[in-house]
Amino acid sequence: MISKKIWEAIREKAQTLEWAPLVWSTRIIPRHQFILWLTFWERLRTRDRINKYMNVLNTSCPLCNENEETMNHLFGSCNITLELWDRLAKSLKLLNFPNEWSEIKEVAVLKAKELGLQQTFSNADLEK
Ligand SMILES: [Zn+2]
Repeated sequence: MISKKIWEAIREKAQTLEWAPLVWSTRIIPRHQFILWLTFWERLRTRDRINKYMNVLNTSCPLCNENEETMNHLFGSCNITLELWDRLAKSLKLLNFPNEWSEIKEVAVLKAKELGLQQTFSNADLEK
């Protein structure tokens, strides 16, 4: 525990990320944590992003083939993912589900707090 106090004293305090407890919850398997982490940083390897540094022959969404695969498309206008988001909203007993990533992020953080994921993260963090 002394090393934790020393670390806290010497480290540079970064901005607190509200979504971090959700992403690093022990209830989420590591592979999904990593994907979620990329998503919250808006760094998902969508075809539009990959196309910026290497030539992608087809940048269309592999789910619907109607639009370019972007984060905004996946979280806001893809018919396939909208159906999945709708099912998720119903399972979470939400009346409606936002169709923009920034709003989805806010809802996820609120829901995680309701489900006690904040607590899970705090306990896990203290054990380190
Ligand atoms: Zn699509």
